[in-house]
Amino acid sequence: MSDNWFVVIPSDPEFRPNKDAISKAKQVFCAIAPLAEEIAVEHDAEPIRFFDCGGNFSRTLCPGCGAEIATDTWHRFMDTDFDATTRGFTLNRHETPCCQTQVTVNDLTYDWPQGFARFGFSAMNPDRDPLNPDEVARFETALGCPIRVIYRHI
Ligand SMILES: [Zn+2]
Repeated sequence: MSDNWFVVIPSDPEFRPNKDAISKAKQVFCAIAPLAEEIAVEHDAEPIRFFDCGGNFSRTLCPGCGAEIATDTWHRFMDTDFDATTRGFTLNRHETPCCQTQVTVNDLTYDWPQGFARFGFSAMNPDRDPLNPDEVARFETALGCPIRVIYRHI
């Protein structure tokens, strides 16, 4: 038995939506994923967390040149960034080994997408196709910021 989630996070990891924006965005999520078993707010406004895509993850690419980043390099970036006290991520800049682009772990290209944020929404087992551009735009209007959508499979 496996489960799927649509997870929506702000593109900007520092973004903190206000209560009104959260409630509007939740209404959008309920409207576009009416079959979801649960729609939840994850990690509300606390340290920057990692929102992963579970079993959909296959590899990490350099945003500068497109080369694949070795898993141990990515893990080293992640370990350096992780603050054990807050259990959050500091998002410091690292240099990619392929072309020396300065990136945070949030800037890396993940296949499938993953990201970092203080806050996220999730819909469990929405039983529908990925969000279309119009639905993404409705979400962004409600939340007041650009979003990243993560399709998590566990
Ligand atoms: Zn590169």
